[in-house]
Amino acid sequence: MSWEDKVRKVVPYTPGEQPSDDHKVIKLNTNEMPYPPSPKVAEALAAFDVDSLRLYPAPDVGPLRDALAARYGVEADEMFVGVGSDDVLATAFLTFFNSDRPVIFPDITYSFYDVWCDVYRITYEIKKLDEEFHIVKSDYLTENGGIVIANPNAPTGVSEDKDVDFIEDIVKANPDSVVIVDEAYVDFGGVSALPLIDKYDNILIVRTFSKSRAFAGMRIGFAMGNSRLIKYMNDVKYSINSYTMNRPAIELGIAALSDEEYYADAVAKVVKTREWTARELRDRGFTVTDSRTNFVFAAPPADRISARELFSGLKKRNIYVRWWDKDRLRDRLRISIGTDEEMQALIKAVDEIMKG
Ligand code: PMP
Repeated sequence: MSWEDKVRKVVPYTPGEQPSDDHKVIKLNTNEMPYPPSPKVAEALAAFDVDSLRLYPAPDVGPLRDALAARYGVEADEMFVGVGSDDVLATAFLTFFNSDRPVIFPDITYSFYDVWCDVYRITYEIKKLDEEFHIVKSDYLTENGGIVIANPNAPTGVSEDKDVDFIEDIVKANPDSVVIVDEAYVDFGGVSALPLIDKYDNILIVRTFSKSRAFAGMRIGFAMGNSRLIKYMNDVKYSINSYTMNRPAIELGIAALSDEEYYADAVAKVVKTREWTARELRDRGFTVTDSRTNFVFAAPPADRISARELFSGLKKRNIYVRWWDKDRLRDRLRISIGTDEEMQALIKAVDEIMKG
């Protein structure tokens, strides 16, 4: 017997590569924003009072929480703020998924969900998406210990927005469990389930500043839901680490929120570039899902080239995209949307590689 036998062993989540010399690389592998944060953020950073770092930050993230609550039209006690949505989701899993019954989520989705289940010893059951990568609603109307749905989903980009009652039907059918809706990409064209928090006490909406607000490096995420859900999450948070959000994150987060016009513009540019990229790829025989996110999920024409070969060819040309050697994923690439110039370079590289 050794201490190693008793270690909480886990297989960790593998994030996309962050090259150290990222100036040489066209980085389309982690769904970051190609545009900088609002100039208001740079101003707030320049004005930041370094002396204030002596003091602990607000444990309840008060000023940023209140600014977010005002922005989204919810009460302060319906808002939880964390260190990126990964922190918010991990806290929600630990708080709400505490049942003998399995938590359910799709086979193809954000690959952190099963990792959190493993680390917290939560049992789970995966449900297959249909051939078009849509969620089969009836799979979520069975007994369960909780539900997690990314909408729009990743890495497929697909949004469940054709059926307006899709999320509501699942929430309504599961009053005994918490339904987490991960809306990391909703600003790029999804439909938010936020209005449902006034009607149901078992739905938690999770969002992030990492994508549409160009803040992946700052680590801000938040959740909105019934005040009892938020209270239980705070109880768990205060049982691990009270001061999760540092002072610069709180101040710069507020600055980002003060310039929604800038971000609406940046998001619109990404959406336009996404549609251009999808069209160019389809013209070359790729199958591309109807993405409502800041990435495309594309299968190259199998008779010409495999996704794996294309992934390596792009990498050799210093264009980083994401490829997974997993069932139902290995014939596709997930390509984040960069600037117009970056996506033109991608298409040019695809042409060169496919010419052989
Ligand atoms: N949810 C989904 C679906 C994601 O793709 C990501 C980004 N990897 C996250 C949550 C977490 O993002 P962050 O922690 O940067 O907010």
